[in-house]
Amino acid sequence: MAKIFCIANQKGGVGKTTTTVNLAAGLALVGQRVLLVDLDPQGNATMGSGIDKRQLALTVYDVLLESASIMEAAIFADKCGYHVVGANRELAGAEVELVDLEHRDQRLKLALAQVQDNFDFVLIDCPPSLSMLTLNGLCSAHGVIVPMQCEYFALEGLTDLVNTIKQVHANLNRDLKIIGLLRVMFDPRITLQQQVSEQLKAHFGDKVFNTVIPRNVRLAEAPSYGLPGVVFDPPAKGSQAFVAFARELVERIPTM
Ligand code: ADP
Ligand code: MG
Repeated sequence: MAKIFCIANQKGGVGKTTTTVNLAAGLALVGQRVLLVDLDPQGNATMGSGIDKRQLALTVYDVLLESASIMEAAIFADKCGYHVVGANRELAGAEVELVDLEHRDQRLKLALAQVQDNFDFVLIDCPPSLSMLTLNGLCSAHGVIVPMQCEYFALEGLTDLVNTIKQVHANLNRDLKIIGLLRVMFDPRITLQQQVSEQLKAHFGDKVFNTVIPRNVRLAEAPSYGLPGVVFDPPAKGSQAFVAFARELVERIPTM
C-alpha cells in the first residue's frame, strides 16, 4: 500500500518543490515506485520534472473535479523515473469550483484510493497556503514532511502549521501526523543556522530527520533544465543529500 506524504509549509520559497521533486527522484533511484502529485497552480514541480505544464491534456484539476482518474492524468517522467499528475494555472479555479461540491476536501483521497497498489510512495507538493487544495492534500495523506530553513522565525512559522495539522487530524483525517522536519538550504558556516538547528532538535527530537540538505546552487539550477538536481547532477552535494534522505525515509517506514 502506498505511503502518501504531503510536502507542506505555509511559507513560500522554503524548498517544498525542490524537496518534492528531488525526494521523488531519490526514491525512484533506490527502487521505489513513486507518484508525484502537483497541487500548486504554479506547476513548478510539473516543470521541474520535465513536463510542460502548458501542454497537459489532463491535470490534477480534472482529477479533483472527477473528470479523470489518477492513472488517466498521470504521465511518466522518463528521465526522472517517477509518475507525475501535473498542475497549471487552471488549478487555481478549482478552489472556487470545489466549494459547492460534495466531499470537497476528500476528492484527492478518493482518487488516490484507486492507485494504492500501483505505487510505494505518493508525494504531494502543496501550495504555500491553507487552501482547499492543501486541505485535499492533508486529507489524503498519512503524514506531512515539512521542509524548513533554519532561520530566526522558523519555529514561529511552524506553530501555525502544527496547529493546522492538529485540526485536520482532529476533524478530518485521523491518520495525519508530522512525519518529520527536513532542514533545507543549510549553511553550516552560519552560526545562527546551527543554533536554530539545535533548537529544532531540542524541541522536536526524532521528528527532525537526520539528513540535512545543504544550500547548493546545482539544486537551484536544475529546474531550468526540467530535471531534479538528483538527475541533473548526481554527484553534487545537494543531490547526494536528497538520495540519503530518500534512504532515510525508506528506513523509517517500518517504524511509522
Ligand atoms: P517552495 O516550493 O517552498 O516555494 P522552492 O523549492 O521553489 O520553494 O525553492 C525556492 C527557491 O530556492 C528556488 O529558487 C530553489 O531553486 C531554491 N532552492 C531550494 N532548495 C535549495 C537548496 N538546497 N540550495 C540552493 N537553492 C535552493
Ligand atoms: Mg513550490
